[in-house]
Amino acid sequence: MDICEICQKNQASIHLTRDDGTAQEICRDCFNVISAKQMGIELTPFKSGIYEYPGGNGKMYKFTVAKIVLPMGIGYEATEITNDNSPGYKVAILDDLDCDQDYLFYKLEAKIKYTLSEKYLQTNTYPNGIKHTRLKEDEVVGRFEYNETNDEIHNVVIDGKVFSWEQLGEMLNAYEGFQFKLKIYDITEDIR
Ligand SMILES: [Zn+2]
Repeated sequence: MDICEICQKNQASIHLTRDDGTAQEICRDCFNVISAKQMGIELTPFKSGIYEYPGGNGKMYKFTVAKIVLPMGIGYEATEITNDNSPGYKVAILDDLDCDQDYLFYKLEAKIKYTLSEKYLQTNTYPNGIKHTRLKEDEVVGRFEYNETNDEIHNVVIDGKVFSWEQLGEMLNAYEGFQFKLKIYDITEDIR
């Protein structure tokens, strides 16, 4: 990964093309400063980086947290750092450009803690040793993720773990004859 050409400190994650045609590889924080200046808004100090939060099981979860400044609003995005780099939890929040940014970060942290405390799946082990994962309470919330082995069918992330669409189907095999409702939400929306 390249180092940001502006601060020479953070990892560059954004390719910025200026009006004069010159291009730079810069970090999220430097990009936010440029965007805020262009839009005439003030940014409260925030350090993008790694933040840790406890789950309901006492386990600590590490997230990369970044502030996002967009023409339609200000947000924060928290992406879990998993040991094997597989997709884990992702929590994001967005509000108007004139929102209270510190309070928005507080709301992100509350959303992360709530997300970590909710579990939709439970795994039982049969006497013969075979494990079976099913819904805990007839409800599931998750996120679609890119599937490297088949880009036509998404993977899903539930309880911070990645599953194939087929695995989700197996989890639902107890519900033959039941109705279901599938509704799609933006990553920044609150599903609760
Ligand atoms: Zn930078």
